Amino acid sequence: MTDRFRTQPVNDRITRITDIAGTHMYLVKGDREAALLDTGVGCGPLDECVRALTDLPVKVIITHGHVDHAMGAGAFPEAWLSPLDREVYAEHSAPDRRVGYIHGSTVTGGLPETAEVTAEMLTPPRPFDQFRPLRPGDTFDLGGVTLEINEGAGHTPGCVTILIPELRTLLLGDACNPFTYLFDPSCSTVTEYREMLLRLRAAVAGRYDRVLLCHGPGGEGDPGLIDSVIAVCGDILRGETDDQPFRGFHGEAVCIAKAMDFTTFTRVDGGSGNIVYDPARVR
Ligand SMILES: [Zn+2]
Repeated sequence: MTDRFRTQPVNDRITRITDIAGTHMYLVKGDREAALLDTGVGCGPLDECVRALTDLPVKVIITHGHVDHAMGAGAFPEAWLSPLDREVYAEHSAPDRRVGYIHGSTVTGGLPETAEVTAEMLTPPRPFDQFRPLRPGDTFDLGGVTLEINEGAGHTPGCVTILIPELRTLLLGDACNPFTYLFDPSCSTVTEYREMLLRLRAAVAGRYDRVLLCHGPGGEGDPGLIDSVIAVCGDILRGETDDQPFRGFHGEAVCIAKAMDFTTFTRVDGGSGNIVYDPARVR
């Protein structure tokens, strides 16, 4: 069962853990404590996987309440998540939503055995009231490494990004990436999202040179992603986008701002950041 998780060292302090559905999470080891950043879809004994990697006490920090990030948190004694993601978490915790996501993940890096996953095999979701409240500005001193919780809202209302200044590493996760989902009714408008990114950029400028992501092969991002996605926001606001058609979580028609080549999953024009958005929710 533990082999449902694949592990890969990022550096001496960080291990990337990839779950059955292809979502990456990160174990950060300090001198006194460890932190698990995200918990994947909650299929398989994640606590055993983590225990094989460290004897330190582990706190869980969830970047946002989505089905592919927060569902394994019930297996750990201490977990943190933004209070603003209560509704999103409730919606994404539904068993049919979870099974549907896992079955659909074979197109985005999930293992073939995801097809056999049933609701009975899933870790029960952590009751929302058992999360401690996570907010931008919080810091967690693990001993020798610090987790600095930064803004990231837009993809979900409570989404955060996490800077590890000592390692010059920034976990952008789903907050800002090569295919940023911003189309759901729970997401910010493009205008609000751009303002958040400008504040985030100012807060982390010059303090990192490695970007970690939660999806995609490798799990690494372009250090210039924030600038790139800010530029895409500007293009959307000026109407200078390609608007490639895409289907949202419930089959709704939305747009990919910058045309993608889906054989390589990269932008046709070579840019690194992108946004999938609803043209009715720009301003
Ligand atoms: Zn997400």
